[in-house]
Amino acid sequence: MQEYESRFWQLRLEHCKKALENNNFEVFVAQTFAEAKIIFKREILPSLIVKTASWGDSLTLYETGILEFLKQNQSIDLIETFAKDLPRGEILERRRQALLVDLFFTGSNAVTETGKLVNLDMVGNRVGAITFGPKNVVLLISRNKLVKDVEKGMERIKAHAAPLNAIRHEGWKTPCVKTSLCMDCNSPDRICNTWVITEKSYPRHRIKIILINQDGGL
Ligand code: SF4
Repeated sequence: MQEYESRFWQLRLEHCKKALENNNFEVFVAQTFAEAKIIFKREILPSLIVKTASWGDSLTLYETGILEFLKQNQSIDLIETFAKDLPRGEILERRRQALLVDLFFTGSNAVTETGKLVNLDMVGNRVGAITFGPKNVVLLISRNKLVKDVEKGMERIKAHAAPLNAIRHEGWKTPCVKTSLCMDCNSPDRICNTWVITEKSYPRHRIKIILINQDGGL
């Protein structure tokens, strides 16, 4: 990455950090995915009591290596809700249990310059956990998720993230898998079911955000 490009995004992310802090989120800025893991280990985890944890699908989270770190931590019971060898009913039951953990991780489909989060879910386990349930939530957000406002965030998700996410999941049969365009479908595989706009963290600092100065996720 060119130094000037990194500097450009650093300025944008610092601006976004201030806006998010004004909305009661606790915010950190990492230069890399690896640094995000260090921030989590050194600055977030020691301030929390964590006996149980889980996560919602997030490519940015996977990039950081935080899950591998947690899997090695014997004192934390990690609820795995994406195991491919489990029946669908068991997966859904685990996702229900994951709504009561001490710490939940995921990403965000978009974050606005005014400090709001925009997310669109298929099942709802991700946006449900962001909204209520887990005692604390950590969101890993790459710089390419930054948008001007909620409207632009929703545009970005429907034009880019949702079709790409459908294509990522092998075997799904939504129209966007064939065309890359959203057709506002009625498919049983439709991944666009629940919008959640998070304007502020309640309680204050329940939602912790690590903004990352690298492109990642969808
Ligand atoms: S509504 Fe349907 S077609 Fe549009 S992005 Fe979502 S899954 Fe794809």
